[in-house]
Amino acid sequence: MKVYMLNPPYIPHFGRGMRWQDTGRAGTLYYPIWLSYATAVVEQEYETRLVDAPAWNWSRGDVIEDVKRFKPDLIVMDSSFPSLKNDIEVAEEIKRNCEAKIVLVGPPASQFPDEILSSDGIDIVARWEYDFTVRDIAKALEENRDFKDIKGISYKENGKIIHNPNREFTTSEDLDRIPFVSKVYKKHLNIRDYYLSSSFYPEVQIFTGRGCPYLCTFCSWTQTLMGRKYRVRSISNVLDELEWIQENLPEVKEVFFEDDTFTINKKRVLEFCREYRKRGLDITWACNARADLDYETMKEMRRANCRLLIVGYESGSDEILRNIKKGITVEQIRRFAKDARRAGLLVHGDFIIGLPGETKETIELTRKLIKETKPDILQVSVASPFPGTEFYKWCEENGYLLINDPNEYLDGQGHQKAIISYPWLTAEEIVQKVDSILREYYLSLGYVPVALKQVFRRRGIEEAKRLYHSAKMFMRYIKGRT
Ligand code: SF4
Repeated sequence: MKVYMLNPPYIPHFGRGMRWQDTGRAGTLYYPIWLSYATAVVEQEYETRLVDAPAWNWSRGDVIEDVKRFKPDLIVMDSSFPSLKNDIEVAEEIKRNCEAKIVLVGPPASQFPDEILSSDGIDIVARWEYDFTVRDIAKALEENRDFKDIKGISYKENGKIIHNPNREFTTSEDLDRIPFVSKVYKKHLNIRDYYLSSSFYPEVQIFTGRGCPYLCTFCSWTQTLMGRKYRVRSISNVLDELEWIQENLPEVKEVFFEDDTFTINKKRVLEFCREYRKRGLDITWACNARADLDYETMKEMRRANCRLLIVGYESGSDEILRNIKKGITVEQIRRFAKDARRAGLLVHGDFIIGLPGETKETIELTRKLIKETKPDILQVSVASPFPGTEFYKWCEENGYLLINDPNEYLDGQGHQKAIISYPWLTAEEIVQKVDSILREYYLSLGYVPVALKQVFRRRGIEEAKRLYHSAKMFMRYIKGRT
């Protein structure tokens, strides 16, 4: 049994693993992270090849040649909403050239299984979290069994589409059983291909836990892929992987914890920091956090070599934060920003323009909050409702969607378009506000001390390199807009 794990070709450097899937403006390219975890599971039992076509600039022809050489029995193909039509076409082209069964995975699989299976290119759809589902499919094929007992899949049988019951999400114990994803990166990928604008380069992205219990209405991962059940790896398992990275990938300058929110459980975070220091680890790390994190925990994180927090502030308006069920207030955001600075942690603050209730006045509140909190790295995105989310349903029901087809979400360069328009705030105005906030922040004299502070930190040279690259990408983006 040979298994081919494919991040299919689309626009070069398209990030299917990103929260807002597009070709990152800051030169960002994510690892095909979910597919890599599934590779780690499948590879324990079967000969497996992982191919990242967008990172390698591979065309469909390149992939087909490679598939012919490898001769897989099973092909597992990733997908995303903006690239779904393309992904299905890639499967159809592969199907015309080889006999392997093709499974489609990724967020669209849980939302559109019938539509996807209407294509001749796809035999099976693995809905939601899929690492162990894919292993079970390989096993059934190897043993010549049918698929009726495999939970979490939809498939075709005698021209009929069959939906098996959902599979339970993994448990914490399951996560500990998955081999280190960093081993998969080392074996199959080139870590220098991947780039996070807020991290030191090169970096690796790993999960220490999956799922998020919060209810943010726009969040796609919780509502289409990983669910709200929070499960975590044991601290010793995570630290073993960090040790492995230090020893086997010495060029790695930072590890990013891609958990939806690494800071959900304070006790666990403190235990991690304590054990990290006990083991005498030296590798720098960063993580996604929520703005309800307290100062004491931040201080311990800093002592354990945490460098940066990525935090979803989303808006400067309490009304909008309530509308999107963020569970955070503007006051908490203010406190978080102050505490992080006091603790010596850098902050990458994310804001979104165009969320439910957005008006020109609430945008001004956001602009003011940005000036006040001064994130070290600022990200401002156009609100993008993905199918399956509460936000998407709300936009659809109220007639605010300009584009219904997710395949039309990106412009010619692979960047996100504004796809919603309100009677009081148009799509053009949303884009214009995003641009003006970013320009005003990064091109103002007020940003100079924020940038200098980063350079005068430990590993200032790495910070300077990162800032230089981000500035270059930002100027390129601005030029493209004028
Ligand atoms: S806290 Fe973050 S990961 Fe959790 S639901 Fe909200 S946006 Fe999603």
